[in-house]
Amino acid sequence: MLLDVKWAVRWLTMCAEAMAENRVWLIELDRPIGDSDHGENMDRGFQAVLEKLAETPPETPGAALKLTAMTLMSKVGGAAGPLYGTAFLRAATAFGDALEVDPAGLATALVAARDGIVARGKAESGDKTMVDAWTPAAEAAQAAAADATGNVLAVLVAAAEAAEAGAVATDPLVARKGRASYLGERSAGHRDPGAASSALILRAAVGAAA
Ligand code: ADP
Ligand code: MG
Repeated sequence: MLLDVKWAVRWLTMCAEAMAENRVWLIELDRPIGDSDHGENMDRGFQAVLEKLAETPPETPGAALKLTAMTLMSKVGGAAGPLYGTAFLRAATAFGDALEVDPAGLATALVAARDGIVARGKAESGDKTMVDAWTPAAEAAQAAAADATGNVLAVLVAAAEAAEAGAVATDPLVARKGRASYLGERSAGHRDPGAASSALILRAAVGAAA
């Protein structure tokens, strides 16, 4: 199996469902170490992505992700909007005009997405940001794609599991980037909302391919 535009549209649709379902949870994660808007931002952004997908149905996975990038940049706002916008845009560029994406192409796009987030936000691993979900996800994807038996589903599962573990691992960290860093030591003991939403996005990618 390879990933095609139908997968991409299913993925983005499942992202929108996940953000709607987890809106309150993401708001609650953003309350103690932020400004309680992350769930609202993400839900609004992905609902707008659904509208755009219906308006101008994409013909390639890359086109679907590019449309998503543009929409998230203009609708999500806050810190997360430009960061996710950059991630989806870099992944779209990595996919190019391909009609289908193979395990290596998928891993390359996930690494490109992570690199985009780092380039934009300048956070390092351990700073308690979405990078702490994306870096292990990108690395796990590369390892799974390098495995000769690896297929796209295995790559997606590896990425989602690593992102979920990475998000949980932000709990004890002290934030060094973003709004949560204003709290210093008091940011420890809370999950980073952006790492949590990143794990939801990568889990949706699995659901769309399963
Ligand atoms: P805001 O902080 O502007 O209210 P959101 O609440 O939508 O924006 O998003 C907050 C999330 O953005 C954080 O949980 C974190 O994961 C991510 N974030 C913030 N700053 C950075 C950064 N410099 N690099 C990477 N991720 C960041
Ligand atoms: Mg916020």
